[in-house]
Amino acid sequence: MDMERLVQARALLEDVTPLRSDCGRLCGGACCQGERGDAHGMLLFPGEAALYVSAAWAQVTPLPYALGGAPALLLTCDGACPRAQRPLACRLFPLFCRMRETGMDIVLDPRARGVCPLFLYGLQGLSQDFVQAARAAYSLLMQDDEGRAFLQGLSDACSLGVTRPARGAR
Ligand code: SF4
Ligand code: SF4
Repeated sequence: MDMERLVQARALLEDVTPLRSDCGRLCGGACCQGERGDAHGMLLFPGEAALYVSAAWAQVTPLPYALGGAPALLLTCDGACPRAQRPLACRLFPLFCRMRETGMDIVLDPRARGVCPLFLYGLQGLSQDFVQAARAAYSLLMQDDEGRAFLQGLSDACSLGVTRPARGAR
């Protein structure tokens, strides 16, 4: 993916969060707290792995399947990161881009069910600044061939229930 576009998409979500207040105080940062030793983590967007080559707090692991025609990569962490370096999946959580024939729908991520207490309240329960920023970021990613293919692959995989849970968002 075009790196400038990727960085722009990340920047759109730099200063917005699912709630105006720190939602992590509601749940103890549930989306950052996988069980130790598990393989949960965040799927990286195409090209994003290059940003973590020298990040001591993150580990990037290939997964045994492809998304959008490229090998899927998982970033795992120990539940803490430099905020400015958090990956797109964390910035977007608990939102998800479902691909339709007519375009994209921004919905709550089905993988957030049972993890994120905000799931119960629907899109209306989230900060609308956050929802708008996520929509803008997804639109930007959709303008990129690799980004669009990845999002289509992710949407297809989630509808079949084959991707691993995502973590991370605050
Ligand atoms: S996004 Fe959801 S799970 Fe993550 S910190 Fe906020 S409320 Fe908790
Ligand atoms: S925001 Fe993402 S990368 Fe950062 S600690 Fe949470 S899960 Fe890990």
